[in-house]
Amino acid sequence: MSVQVVAAKMAEVELKDVPTGKDLPAGSPMTPTSEGKSLGRNDPHEAGSTAAASPTAEPSKAGEGSLGLLNTNPAKMPQASALKRTDPQLNGGEAFINRDGTVAEAPRMKKIQFADQKQEFTKRPSKIGRRSLSRSISQSSTDSYSSAASYTDSSDDETSPRDKQQKNSKGNGDFCIKNIKQADFGRREIEIAEQEMPALMALRKRAQGEKPLAGAKVVGCTHITAQTAVLMETLSALGAQCRWAACNIYSTQNEVAAALAEGGFSVFAWKGESEDDFWWCIDRCVNVEGWQPNMILDDGGDLTHWIYKKYPNMFKKIKGIVEESVTGVHRLYQLSKAGKLCVPAMNVNDSVTKQKFDNLYCCRESILDGLKRTTDVMFGGKQVVVCGYGEVGKGCCAALKAMGSIVYVTEIDPICALQACMDGFRLVKLNEVIRQVDIVITCTGNKNVVVREYLDRMKNGCIVCNMGHSNTEIDVASLRTPELTWERVRSQVDHVIWPDGKRIVLLAEGRLLNLSCSTVPTFVLSITATTQALALIELYNAPEGRYKQDVYLLPKKMDEYVASLHLPTFDAHLTELSDEQAKYLGLNKNGPFKPNYYRY
Ligand code: NAD
Repeated sequence: MSVQVVAAKMAEVELKDVPTGKDLPAGSPMTPTSEGKSLGRNDPHEAGSTAAASPTAEPSKAGEGSLGLLNTNPAKMPQASALKRTDPQLNGGEAFINRDGTVAEAPRMKKIQFADQKQEFTKRPSKIGRRSLSRSISQSSTDSYSSAASYTDSSDDETSPRDKQQKNSKGNGDFCIKNIKQADFGRREIEIAEQEMPALMALRKRAQGEKPLAGAKVVGCTHITAQTAVLMETLSALGAQCRWAACNIYSTQNEVAAALAEGGFSVFAWKGESEDDFWWCIDRCVNVEGWQPNMILDDGGDLTHWIYKKYPNMFKKIKGIVEESVTGVHRLYQLSKAGKLCVPAMNVNDSVTKQKFDNLYCCRESILDGLKRTTDVMFGGKQVVVCGYGEVGKGCCAALKAMGSIVYVTEIDPICALQACMDGFRLVKLNEVIRQVDIVITCTGNKNVVVREYLDRMKNGCIVCNMGHSNTEIDVASLRTPELTWERVRSQVDHVIWPDGKRIVLLAEGRLLNLSCSTVPTFVLSITATTQALALIELYNAPEGRYKQDVYLLPKKMDEYVASLHLPTFDAHLTELSDEQAKYLGLNKNGPFKPNYYRY
């Protein structure tokens, strides 16, 4: 019986037998159709089809995924499929560096743009100095306005966590957070999150006897929220040791960080870090005596980049990278293209469940929350332009339309553009509507989508925000000019005022709105977190040589498994294929049910 069956039974899902490894599409190389989107060659509709294997990117033993460590039969879990890109440039050369830790400079490597990495942490700036280093310091931790991302920001504690000596109740001080006294409150938030994360809780139960992550030393850089805490505590229950930093300077829930620190986790994060703090926290996670990570869980690629830059020798021991975001995955492909990716990496971002649930459904709910909490805006009748009609854009547009907003869309891709039209949105160029809109939302993952020229032309009171991962979409730096006045209105809300009195309302200084200014639904995060946990288990337990220094996608079977673990929440009743139907469709009765190129 496989892990699917066991866990699904625990979750009261009726999944009968599961296919053996050779029934799975695992290991089938995938040909991406666009950045990070993959096109599998293995179509289960072709009866009896198994992987059309790529000799270079396929794991060596198809179907023997290491997730089997959670199984009684290890041969029955899906394993990741290598992502081979159609663009020969992207995997060109194949000059992967061996796992000796050396990271050679590849001539065709494009320079990756990262935040300032020049800080030396031995010479720490004073508190004021640190603040002045930051171009995006948040007053959130001292502001009376309480964003839901951190309910318990202390309003009278100005001391930087870096200047405090804190210990948890067991005398452990290997963490740096805002205030350890908030731990009880954070614990309650984690308990609430657990209710909405059924799959992780099921994995925990399943792992009570077995510890598939025993010996794993996971260094993580993600948003530090109650949901991440449930993931970290699950990894710990599965046997891993964790050290964690935040991937966003605003999104840490201080009380959750406190609860984690109280529970013995080495967490280095607080809401409202400066840029310098941000890199310092990451450094504290990896630069520690007597502890070296052997797995990376990253969201955005900053942690991976930091290790490449500062501690390349660590890759001798690192077994793999699990990356969540579009941006981070893009960076991994750049490394791969340059022959600099020296360990296998799992692209969690492009798993179907992540794309659909995390990007689409999560943003559909949280865009309204983020805007409401920061501006109290009424949506009915407002004119909104959404830049990018990918998964995030689709979610934002759907929510705003449902609230009665008049929504315009900008796109560069004719397919997404046509989708926007068919969904009833006006496709425009930004300059056509920039003067009239009340709200501008970017969700492209691109840079300089909203530049100074557009900001100059916006009408008074226009709200400007970003839902994409990085802060590159709105050219916020261009607003730091002497003729413009910045006025902090409340946490994460700035008025930028032009000499003629016109003001725009800039949210979270152009960083991602929902994670900076609101919470996101736990249930969708549960899906991503479960996928991350499974990817870590798989990479950690894979025998030497199964995965090469390449970027891999999780197989569809695993996506389906993650989804099935969440169905009992809805008392959902899945229809089973009859033998006759399965034969007719050329499918295994237990999945995968769709070809890899199916788009849902
Ligand atoms: P996607 O690739 O599906 O969509 C992005 C869209 O933007 C594409 O259709 C692309 O054609 C379009 N685009 C690119 N440049 C453009 C430009 N200059 N003008 C107009 N359109 C342009 O990606 P996605 O899944 O929608 O994610 C978008 C961003 O949101 C990423 O940075 C991702 O990391 C981030 N993200 C945020 C959240 C959140 O909770 N806020 C969740 C998931 C992803």
